[in-house]
Amino acid sequence: MVLFDATQTRQATVRAVIAGNPNCGKTCLFNALTGANQKVGNYPGVTVERREGRVRSSALEMTVVDLPGTYSLTALSADEMVARHTMLHERPDVVIDVVDAANLERNLYLTVQLMEMEMPLVVALNMVDVAERHGLTIDVERMAAVLGLPVVPTVGNRSRGIRDLLSRSHQVARATDRMTRPVTYGHAVDDEVDALAAVVAGDSGLAGRYPARWAAVKLLEKDEEIIRDMRAVAAQPAAIEAAAAGAMQAIESHFHEPSEVVLAEARYGFVAGIIRECVTHGNVSRKSVTDAVDAVVCHRLLGPLVLGGVVYLLFVAVFKTADEWHWLFGRSPTQWMQTLFAWLGKQADGLADTSPMLHSLLADGVIGGVGGIMAFVPLIFVMFALIAALEDTGYMARVAFVLDRALKVFGLQGKSIMAMIVSGGLGGGGCAVPGVLATRVLRDREDRLVTMLIAPLMNCGAKIPVYLMLIGAFFAERQAGMMFLLWLLSWVFALLSAVVIRKFVVRGAQAPFVMELPTYHVPTLRGVLRHTWSRTWMFIRKAGTLILATSVLLWSAMYFPRANTSVIDGRITALGTRAAEPEVQAQINALQRERQSAQLRHSVAGRAGAALENVTRWAGMDWRDNIALIGGFAAKEVIVSTLGVAYAMGDTESDAGGTLSAHLRSDPGWTPLRAFALMVFVMLYAPCVTVQIITRRESGSWKWPLFSMTYTTALGLLMATLIYQVGSAFGWGV
Ligand code: GDP
Ligand code: MG
Repeated sequence: MVLFDATQTRQATVRAVIAGNPNCGKTCLFNALTGANQKVGNYPGVTVERREGRVRSSALEMTVVDLPGTYSLTALSADEMVARHTMLHERPDVVIDVVDAANLERNLYLTVQLMEMEMPLVVALNMVDVAERHGLTIDVERMAAVLGLPVVPTVGNRSRGIRDLLSRSHQVARATDRMTRPVTYGHAVDDEVDALAAVVAGDSGLAGRYPARWAAVKLLEKDEEIIRDMRAVAAQPAAIEAAAAGAMQAIESHFHEPSEVVLAEARYGFVAGIIRECVTHGNVSRKSVTDAVDAVVCHRLLGPLVLGGVVYLLFVAVFKTADEWHWLFGRSPTQWMQTLFAWLGKQADGLADTSPMLHSLLADGVIGGVGGIMAFVPLIFVMFALIAALEDTGYMARVAFVLDRALKVFGLQGKSIMAMIVSGGLGGGGCAVPGVLATRVLRDREDRLVTMLIAPLMNCGAKIPVYLMLIGAFFAERQAGMMFLLWLLSWVFALLSAVVIRKFVVRGAQAPFVMELPTYHVPTLRGVLRHTWSRTWMFIRKAGTLILATSVLLWSAMYFPRANTSVIDGRITALGTRAAEPEVQAQINALQRERQSAQLRHSVAGRAGAALENVTRWAGMDWRDNIALIGGFAAKEVIVSTLGVAYAMGDTESDAGGTLSAHLRSDPGWTPLRAFALMVFVMLYAPCVTVQIITRRESGSWKWPLFSMTYTTALGLLMATLIYQVGSAFGWGV
């Protein structure tokens, strides 16, 4: 107990952590406290790592950590481990325990565990608006009295109660004579816990290491971590084990149940007592709306249909508003972006004669590369906005519920869906980096590994521009339908891969799973715009930094070494005197194209791409595609920009088509079949470098990223070849 005494040396900065169940509004409160802009989602697994922020505009210095949501602190899952270790080893000055007022029973269960750990607590009674709509009246003062803790009602998504929460947190952090009220489990258990706690406190090795009563409870719950630790550091481990065994036996003979079950039930009893004291139920009304909607949305047969419909509508809406409808001063937002970058490219034209290398670097490497990507910003913005709105309503949690039954068949579990959705499983706008991190909600190492390995097969936000560009070129009349097909295919490949990996690579039994269904919320415009902006900004920033750097790097790989083109140069110079004649000008253009093409083939990238052609041509991919795909290893965003560079450099007639899409459409070497095979390859092949690094970190071994890269690339090549060969044989899309 000494350990948690607030009279200990106090640092100048107050260190606060936010703890609570998934979906109770932790991230909302974190954002409101720190003015940060973390992503908020209506399903567990979003806050996969602790995030730290600083409280603005406060007299005292205060840092806040947003912990992953947990229902318990039993240290079974990675999330619970993070939360528990933060409590035990970092000893925050104050723990802000966020409690969903509409789900008090489940949420207070965690509060009780925090009380057991004797943490300096402030309860943020969040979602009081929802509780009110459900007809619940909560006596806040009474609750504070019963718990012996400050209780502050808040509405996280509207930043209500924040000032109060902050001042209470400061009070608790500053308090020197804090009294934590012991959790009571009923007489029979309390006596045993107290006796065991006395033994723990009396052991010179354990005293002060943990709160004694908490350690006693954990020993009675057969908590592996504590038992291990106790054996390692206790002065007399045998005496403690004997005392624990005695207490356990006394409890089990009294209740005829395992002691850990008795303790869990005792906690629920404690919680039920609090609720009975402070909550009155009015006439329940709103709940039935959620129930009525869920009757359809979570239905065994209707649920998947609704899901398919929602995803399809999402895509239609995205394409219409961002690209097809010319609603913004006569053009679509995408067209405006294209206009802007075309104009920028023109500005560099002056350099063409004086400094051809600089001109090529600017026009092809920088403007061509980044511009190709930026044209997709409007599409991506609209897509992110609609997905954020869906998340906020609570529908995403239903998606996990609906798919759980289906996923079991493939050796996955319902919670895997979070990682898949975060990775782009809802049709794009995701990223496998947080996706891999989101596997932390899974308790089982096997489940985690399988999910981690298949999540990158989803259509992440970076693959979307490749699809959009190729669909724009070859399937313009069937945009939405094509995207839907690609979404479907990504799932088919991911699920079949899960079966294969489960069967041959990662074996093991599956863990049981519980999924919460939060009540539906109406999303707030401000919230949606905020998340949309932060995600879009992330994309733009990536385009500005990583993609720019890769573009320039790849540009030099395509520019150097210079080929000797003196023969062609001579012919161009000779013709130059008669350039005014149209047919001579055409000849010059053709020669220039020839020169560019020879140059590109001569370059480092051209040679690598050409060497790979031996393998990839069976899938319809030529050396230029190969160059772009090599760039895609760094980040998939780079593929479109590299293709842009490759084709701009291979063809000076840039005003003939303007966009890359138009360019490819008019290229006789390109067919819809080739485009389709390439899209499937891009969908499947190697996850980008960042994902590999994260996978290494999360799986603890390089074996898994290596496996992932080999497996996905082989699968991609196999599928693209199959599609291209079968398609060619039947004359489809040629
Ligand atoms: P976390 O999982 O605990 O981090 O929870 P989030 O902060 O991500 O919030 C989950 C959802 O609940 C989001 O859609 C929020 O907009 C919503 N939300 C958070 N606090 C409140 C609240 O006090 N009232 C209502 N009605 N919704 C809230
Ligand atoms: Mg969160």
